[in-house]
Amino acid sequence: MTKNAHAIAATQTKARIDAELMGIAGAVLLGLTLLFAAGFAQASVLHDTAHDMRHAMSFPCH
Ligand SMILES: [Zn+2]
Repeated sequence: MTKNAHAIAATQTKARIDAELMGIAGAVLLGLTLLFAAGFAQASVLHDTAHDMRHAMSFPCH
């Protein structure tokens, strides 16, 4: 392999690794987004349930 071809091959390898890292980063970001979305949705459900319980027990709240 010539010196130039070697440099091109190294660049392509780096580009492939960068693409893989971007894919992993994207997957992690998507996972965290879903995790936080589910966490907030669950917190909202818990809040609404607690709120409904207060009203069910005639507890003054608003
Ligand atoms: Zn209320």
